[in-house]
Amino acid sequence: MVRYSVLASGSTGNAILIQTDTTSILVDAGLSGKQIEKAMHEIGVSADCLDGIVITHEHQDHVKGAGILSRRYKIPVFCNQKTWDGMEHIVGEIKTGYQEIFCTGDRMEIGNLALESFAISHDAKDPVGYCVFAGNTKISVATDMGYVNAKMKQRIIDSDALIIEANHDVEMLRIGPYPWHLKQRILSDHGHLSNETAAEILTEVITANTQCVHLAHLSAENNMPVLAHMTVKTILEQEQFKVGQEFDLEITYPDKPTKLRSVRRR
Ligand SMILES: [Zn+2]
Ligand SMILES: [Zn+2]
Repeated sequence: MVRYSVLASGSTGNAILIQTDTTSILVDAGLSGKQIEKAMHEIGVSADCLDGIVITHEHQDHVKGAGILSRRYKIPVFCNQKTWDGMEHIVGEIKTGYQEIFCTGDRMEIGNLALESFAISHDAKDPVGYCVFAGNTKISVATDMGYVNAKMKQRIIDSDALIIEANHDVEMLRIGPYPWHLKQRILSDHGHLSNETAAEILTEVITANTQCVHLAHLSAENNMPVLAHMTVKTILEQEQFKVGQEFDLEITYPDKPTKLRSVRRR
């Protein structure tokens, strides 16, 4: 049995709690230490119990509180070398012994969780997504991606729970207030996934084992929770998926945690 909550998601900060009875980790810690402690408190979990913080990439909205939490609770921080080099100036000093540098693709263990990182396409030094395994239960985290190729789909396929980016509605982004260069960046191969693209990927990676899909990193300017949910649901239903029956489709929030949800391979 594994529990998880998306504590916060979006350009103002990202953090996901994943825990078993003996092990707790955060995937990203992109809010202030206080905000993360508060979000964990809201779902009845103390930051004391954290055994590791794993980082996807060095952007502020993914690393902001990593150094503070690591120093305050003596938590090791896991990332690849280039991500470490890129985030060092943001997170401050992390003592030797609390830096765990891995190579992208290596399998690693934190307590009774096993993790596999995989390369993704985003405008960061060496960004990754993660598959986290508790026994044979699999939770995948895949956000901040300009596009997803067959190899990445192969990594996230058949997850019991999947947290995937649905950043923007392409039309809202096109007509929205962002300057042209920023629109280009978001739409590029190193930017962010649209609602439609997220849905198309989901049609290829959801299996009979999938119990919940969470749409993450929604843009506050170029998306709306209702629109993201409706767009993805509609495309999945066109492909004969029974949303709400075979699996749940849920939204994540920039300012409140999703409920702590248990999942187990069925
Ligand atoms: Zn981000
Ligand atoms: Zn990013």
